[in-house]
Amino acid sequence: MTLAACTPRSLPESLNGLFELALDLRWTWHHGSDELWRALDEETWEATGNAWLVLNSVSGDRLEDLAQDPSFQQRYLEQLAAHHRFVHADTWYSDECASNLGEGIAYFCMEYGLSESLPLYSGGLGVLAGDYLKAASDLGLPVTAVGLLYQQGYFRQAISTDGEQLEFYPYNDPTMLPISPLRDSDDQWVRVVVPFPGRHVRLRAWKAQVGRCELLLLDSNDPRNEPGDRGITSELYTGDPEKRLQQEMVLGIGGWRLLRQLGRRPSLCHLNEGHCALALVERAFSWQEDHNSDFQTARTATRATNLFTTHTSVAAGFDHFSGPLLRLYLAPWLENRGLSAGQLIDLGSEHPSAGNDAGDQGLNMALLALNMSGRINGVSRIHQKVTQTIFQPFFPRWPADDIPADYVTNGVHTPSWDSPESDAIWTRACGQDRWRRPLQVSCPMTAISDEELWEMRRLQRKRLVSYLRRRLSSQHCEQNPASNRAAACGLLLDNETLTLGFARRFTDYKRPDLLLKDPERLIRLLASRDRPLQIVLAGKAHPYDRRGKDIIRRWKAFAQRPDVEGKVVFIEDYDLGVANQLIQGVDVWLNCPRHPWEACGTSGMKVLVNGGLNLSQYDGWWAEAWNRDVGWAIHPGAVFEDLHSSSEDDLADARELFDLLEQQVIPGFYDVDQQGVPRRWLQRIRASMDQLTAVYSANRMVREYVDRFYLPMVEQGKARSPATAAEILTQYQEIRKHWPRLRFSAFNASQSEGRQTFSVEVYLDGIDEQRIAVELVAEASEQGPRTVTPMAMQHPLSGSAHSFLYECSVPPRPAGHYTPRLRVRDERLNLPLENPAVLWLR
Ligand SMILES: *Cc1c(COP(=O)(O)O)cnc(C)c1O
Repeated sequence: MTLAACTPRSLPESLNGLFELALDLRWTWHHGSDELWRALDEETWEATGNAWLVLNSVSGDRLEDLAQDPSFQQRYLEQLAAHHRFVHADTWYSDECASNLGEGIAYFCMEYGLSESLPLYSGGLGVLAGDYLKAASDLGLPVTAVGLLYQQGYFRQAISTDGEQLEFYPYNDPTMLPISPLRDSDDQWVRVVVPFPGRHVRLRAWKAQVGRCELLLLDSNDPRNEPGDRGITSELYTGDPEKRLQQEMVLGIGGWRLLRQLGRRPSLCHLNEGHCALALVERAFSWQEDHNSDFQTARTATRATNLFTTHTSVAAGFDHFSGPLLRLYLAPWLENRGLSAGQLIDLGSEHPSAGNDAGDQGLNMALLALNMSGRINGVSRIHQKVTQTIFQPFFPRWPADDIPADYVTNGVHTPSWDSPESDAIWTRACGQDRWRRPLQVSCPMTAISDEELWEMRRLQRKRLVSYLRRRLSSQHCEQNPASNRAAACGLLLDNETLTLGFARRFTDYKRPDLLLKDPERLIRLLASRDRPLQIVLAGKAHPYDRRGKDIIRRWKAFAQRPDVEGKVVFIEDYDLGVANQLIQGVDVWLNCPRHPWEACGTSGMKVLVNGGLNLSQYDGWWAEAWNRDVGWAIHPGAVFEDLHSSSEDDLADARELFDLLEQQVIPGFYDVDQQGVPRRWLQRIRASMDQLTAVYSANRMVREYVDRFYLPMVEQGKARSPATAAEILTQYQEIRKHWPRLRFSAFNASQSEGRQTFSVEVYLDGIDEQRIAVELVAEASEQGPRTVTPMAMQHPLSGSAHSFLYECSVPPRPAGHYTPRLRVRDERLNLPLENPAVLWLR
């Protein structure tokens, strides 16, 4: 690939490799080349952390000087050689998986948070996708990610002197972003076309290199597009449903077409959230074309290798599009596919209207994704339950416990979140390449003394305090006439004071105002002379979220109270860069979402590697991770059924939070020995670092996706040949015809030797008995847990065609607790996802 066309400058011949280094986002987590960027242009590097921008803004004279500088040359050549070694090294995947993922994984997501210098994300979902991709690179996994290049991305935040959130949308100049135009083998800039009503929308393709993985990005800002279409990829998450649908068409349809145009044939497609569900339909269309087949066969063939991950906690969180809007937009795309708009909408409708093209039902993108996928998963153990509950309406007559949603708990890309100090400590304790191979589950740091660990914490806190002061100064802290300058500028923050951090989206369910439920009690903690507390806050409220904005206003007003004495600071424009600084320096990270609304939550995982401790609602990942040794939980042991929603619950949780702070957290931090070292606090830090860092890493998460999903799914996909897919389809069309006539009769129980035997007669109307499973179900009760026991076929019933006797023995319970049911059985399919037919006796 030549870079000339995308680089506004040329480099001295001997430094040409800098292009390669600057365009690999590995510099966001691997700091080997930092000194090169600093040498080129220290000011730009410190201000933006964007190596590509540094390379493009450094003066020609400076470059010529460095090209002649032997010591720079040497460091540069070392880095270049190290980079080549990294790109070609053996990896976990090449060693352990023997290329069993075939042509690899296509990963789709609406947003990617890789670096603050590539602002294509709004929050947790994007940061997770970014961390996934970085860990996939570490492990050598063949992943190609697909996303959108937003001209403006998510809004940038400032806060006015009276606490009002201001929103700005600065333009992302693509030539200054660490990406390059994607070129084909003829060196042409790759473009993709997606049919829209009455026109074709042209998309330009870009590439971000993320270590060994690629992130391909599409944008619609092609001068040949209509003005309105050029703005399709302008902002992320605007409220306009029409624009949202346009974006999802560009991402899903355009994204899959892009892969195809590049000649890629991914073995599996992983959707991170349902926004990109149209990719699965486009994937089926491609298959249909390749095999000269019809849509339903294509769907049956491809879905085995589609994985859908959901992060949503409420049904209202799914994208819904209205029938008329869909019909308008999808018609040109669906032309000549043998699939009408009505049939497509049925795949994502709670109440299908049998392909009726005039029906007015809308489409739920999560349901479409589900109906196109072979497996689905939530992102924590609690979230699996939540997902089963919100998907239950899509599986009529199936109990929530049987809804086929799995879970993989999220993790963070540890090397992206460690501090220089913690990096040094971990390297000493556990070795250099520890984050690239499967993480040792335990690394107890026995070689590190309490004093060293405490010194690490103190240095990190000190760096945080100076960062906060710099930030506050750039927030014009001096210009607020109403406030005390020293307080507003963070000059009253203290390097040795217990520092609590809270940063996340300011939205109702995250309860960023929980500490404000009792302002007087909070002030007592902040103002304590001998055991004070200081708090750093950050977070954006969605532009339409009035309540979220109101909470920001209340915090700003609180921070300005004279009796708060500058101990609470609000950092504007929360992004990856801010997050990075906060999670390195805080002693305690606070998270208090309303149970069970936090699908997983990841910010708390980022403090683990740095010896920060978590004080969090017992929800999401913390409900799995928490024990008394590693941190503090609000309302520990809460189960999913404890739906938290009332304001009394908020008050009770706030009281519990204050109790924990007053009785455990604050006394624990200040409980120091003669040498000034808080031994018990450090014990907790050791437990948290040792027990949790590896487990809540993206390294573990990605390997779990590979072992439990990608590998078995790709295996199953190989078995779905065109012939098998067609056969499955025909067989199930046949079964559907018979299904309404299936019947149970003669359900009987008998007791013997402490066991209970149940038998039931089943009429199958000619369906092959091998395709049917009969099960005896007892729901959980005071008699015992839920059980599902297979009933074995004993013999056909003589004298009545298509009837069979089934039987099983179970532990005794009142007979009325047991009910038989009948479902399809087929090891070729993922059931009941691919066929939710079920018949209960009652
Ligand atoms: C980690 C992170 C998030 C997600 O944090 P949650 O705890 O899941 O809310 C959001 N935004 C940024 C910038 C992050 O770094």
